[in-house]
Amino acid sequence: MTTLIRNATILAMDAAHGATPFLGDILVEGDRIATIGHGLEAPPGAKVIEGRDRLVMPGLVNAHIHSSETFFKGRYQNMPLEVWTLYAYPLVGAPVIPERLLYLRSLLTAMEALKGGVTTMVDDFFDPPRFDLDRLGIVFSAYDAVGIRANVSNAIIDRHIFDTLPFAREIVPAALQAAIPDPGFTVDGYMDYCRSVFASLHGRGNGRLRFMLAPSAPQRCSVPLMEACLALAVEKGVPYHTHILETKTQAVTGEEFYGKTLIRYMHDLGLLARNVTIAHSIWVTDEDMVLMGSADCSIAHNCISNQKLGAGVAPVRRLLDAGVNVGLGTDGLCSNDTARIFDVMRAAGLIHGTATPDYERWVTSEEILTAATIKGARTALLDHVTGSLEVGKKADLLILKMDGFNFSPMNDIRHHLVYCENGQSIETVMVDGAVVVANGRLTTVDEDAVFAELREIVPAWLTEHAEVEARNKVFEPYMRELHRRATIRDIGINRYQGDMPFWTGQNRASA
Ligand SMILES: [Zn+2]
Repeated sequence: MTTLIRNATILAMDAAHGATPFLGDILVEGDRIATIGHGLEAPPGAKVIEGRDRLVMPGLVNAHIHSSETFFKGRYQNMPLEVWTLYAYPLVGAPVIPERLLYLRSLLTAMEALKGGVTTMVDDFFDPPRFDLDRLGIVFSAYDAVGIRANVSNAIIDRHIFDTLPFAREIVPAALQAAIPDPGFTVDGYMDYCRSVFASLHGRGNGRLRFMLAPSAPQRCSVPLMEACLALAVEKGVPYHTHILETKTQAVTGEEFYGKTLIRYMHDLGLLARNVTIAHSIWVTDEDMVLMGSADCSIAHNCISNQKLGAGVAPVRRLLDAGVNVGLGTDGLCSNDTARIFDVMRAAGLIHGTATPDYERWVTSEEILTAATIKGARTALLDHVTGSLEVGKKADLLILKMDGFNFSPMNDIRHHLVYCENGQSIETVMVDGAVVVANGRLTTVDEDAVFAELREIVPAWLTEHAEVEARNKVFEPYMRELHRRATIRDIGINRYQGDMPFWTGQNRASA
C-alpha cells in the first residue's frame, strides 16, 4: 500500500525540526515513511490524501497503561492508591476474567487509544494470579486485530502484599493477614514463562506487538526476580517496566524496609539502567534524580492518575534537568479515566506551573509534545522505530483537521496541540502504514458491534465485581491507617501542593 499525503502542515518531531511545523508532502510505502519533501509525484496506484488545512504529526505514545482496569473506568473517586488498590486489584475473591471479556477489554482499550491518536501503547497487563500463554495471547490478538503498536507485559508481584507495605504486618489483624496466601511464584518459573512469550507472541503483527518485563515495584518483588528480569530485558532489548515512588507511602516504604530511598535501593542492586522505565517517580529526592539521569532511565509521567489518586506531582522540571527521559502515560482507566493522551498533555502542560512561581522553569508545549512522541517512544525503547516522522521509520502518524474549534483561529500550533486539542480534530490514524482510523472511525473493527456486546455482557461482570469489592472492604481501615501513618512522616521532601501535614488536626476542618 502506497499513500501520498500532500500539501500538509508537518510536525515531524525529529532532531532537525523538533516541534517547528513546515509545509510538505509525505510518501508512505508499505509500513514505512519513504520520502518527506515538496511537490512529490504520486506513484501509480497510490492513494492521495490532500493535506490542505491538515496537520500531520507522529502518533502519540502512551507510556503507561493497565488494560486490566478498563472495565472500571468511571467507577471510583477520592481514594489514595493504598485504599483504591483494594477495589481495583482486590486482595481476596477476585475471579479470573473470562476469555471473551478479556478479549473485549483489551480491544476496548486499544480502540479508545487509537481513536485518541495513540499509535503506541505500553500496556502493563496484570492478570492475577495467572501466567498463561493462551490468555496473554488473547490480549495480543485483540491488539493485532485493531492494529495498534504495543509493548505488553504480564506483570508480576512475588511478595506477600503485607510485606510490600510499611506498618502492614503490625496494623492488619493476623486473621486477615492469613486470609491472603503467598503469591508462590518461583523466579525460574516466571523466567521460563517469559522466554516462552518471547518465543511465541513477541514480534507478532509485523513486529508491532512486543513483550516487556514488568516486575511491579522494587518493594513488591524479590531481588533475584528483579535481577533475572533486567538481565532478560537487556538480552532481548525490551524495557524493564516498573513502578517507583508513586506515593508518599512508598517513600516511607524505602526508609522502613531498606533505610534508603527505593531509587537508591535499585541503584545499589545494579538495577537502574537504560532499559528501565519507571512509572510515576513522584517522591524522588534530588539524589534519586541524579542516579536516574546517570543511568539513562526513563519515566512515564501519569499526571492525571496522580491527581485522581492524590499521589502528588512529579518534579518533572528537575527530572528533565537531571537528564531523565520523560514520556507521558494515562495509567489504568480506573485512575484516569480515559485512554486519551491529549488529556494528559494538557494536564501535564498546566500542572507544573503550580509547582513554582519561577515561570521560566514551567514545562513548555514543545517539551510536552516531545514527551508525548519521540521521548515517549524512547520509554518503550522504540525511538528508532516510531515517535517522529522520518524517512525509514514506521509510518505511525495522525492527520488532524485544523479548520475546527481547536485550531481556529490559528496562533501557535504547538500551543493548540497541548492546550486546545482533545482528539476531536483527528481525522486519520495510521499505524505501520495502515489506516486504522479514517474520518474519525476505526477501520479495523465494528465499533457499534463491540459496544453492543459490551452492553450485553459486562454488567454481570461488574455486578460480580461489586460483591468482590464488598468482601475487600474489611481491609480498608488498615490501609487507611498505614496511609495516614506514612502521610504524617516527615521525610524531607513534599510532593503535595496543598496544606501539609494532613491528619494533624489543624488542617482537616478548613480543608
Ligand atoms: Zn501503573
